[in-house]
Amino acid sequence: MRKIGVLTSGGDSPGMNAAIRAIVHEAQTYEIDVYGFYKGYIGLINGNYKIIKDIDVQDIIRWGGSILDSSRCPEFLNKSGRDKAFNTCSSLNIDSLIIIGGNGSISGALELSRENDIKIIGLPGTIDNDIAGSEYSIGFDTAVNTATDAIDKIMDTATTMENLFFIEVMGRHCGAIALMSAVAGGADAVLIPEIPTDFNKLIKKLKNKIKKGKRGLIVIVAEGDDLGHATEIAKLTQKELDIIPKVTVLGHTQRGGSPSAKDRYLSTLLGSRAVECLTEGKGNIMLGIKYNKITEIPFERACKKESHVQKMFSQGIIDLLT
Ligand code: ADP
Repeated sequence: MRKIGVLTSGGDSPGMNAAIRAIVHEAQTYEIDVYGFYKGYIGLINGNYKIIKDIDVQDIIRWGGSILDSSRCPEFLNKSGRDKAFNTCSSLNIDSLIIIGGNGSISGALELSRENDIKIIGLPGTIDNDIAGSEYSIGFDTAVNTATDAIDKIMDTATTMENLFFIEVMGRHCGAIALMSAVAGGADAVLIPEIPTDFNKLIKKLKNKIKKGKRGLIVIVAEGDDLGHATEIAKLTQKELDIIPKVTVLGHTQRGGSPSAKDRYLSTLLGSRAVECLTEGKGNIMLGIKYNKITEIPFERACKKESHVQKMFSQGIIDLLT
């Protein structure tokens, strides 16, 4: 093996660059050339690439986003699109790929590997931490830190002004960012997609806290909560409490920014191990983290839609906050 292809696909996440850097460094020790394809599967289909050298990855460990860009690629959903992608690889004599992305991107890798003679290693790159089989995905820790930092700042105002705030965080299907940042930020309640929201329970909880003299109140809402977005839930709450709640939607601030030390560290481990795996002839697995160690997860398992919330948090914490 003298060449490997690398791409970042789907929603970007902080730490993708750290993984690319590690891949390039590790590949260099085996004298393997790294072909970086731009804009995820689009670059693979169109043959838009650059051979990534050491010089290209210096300093990028601390950058958010991806130097290879990322995108959604509807064409890759069809076999004809994937055939084009494989043809690009064949014409360049590339028989090994490392794909960094979320659930959808790993599903695409699974399809490509099923249809063609190609070895692919997937790395979990998404802030949502919703990839089955891995306790961690690249970018999750940074996103939680961003959300926690915002909660801390809003808590100052909430306490000083005796306000109730609803803070909406990312997570259409997974409440991991919401729960982790709610615990870290000392929020009063959290609403997540995995647990049907009991609005009466929420109101009772808030009334109790007000009665006990709590000055600032914060409710974290994952964007995919079944009761609606934070603005809608705030309106419903206003009708029940003698308070005009305030709403902050953190949105894409959670996707960007310099990766945390943990994200840089784990992305580096995963990136270099991905190259090693290919040199060992392994393929069609996603590398993840379990019990703080790198684990190999078959693509079929990694592609299962699975929320980590029940595994990541004790039932006590879930019951207390939701
Ligand atoms: P993420 O990887 O962040 O979950 P998406 O779900 O948008 O993001 O997936 C990224 C890309 O992966 C899609 O635009 C598409 O090109 C490819 N993809 C997603 N699901 C599949 C699938 N079932 N089969 C083939 N390709 C897929």
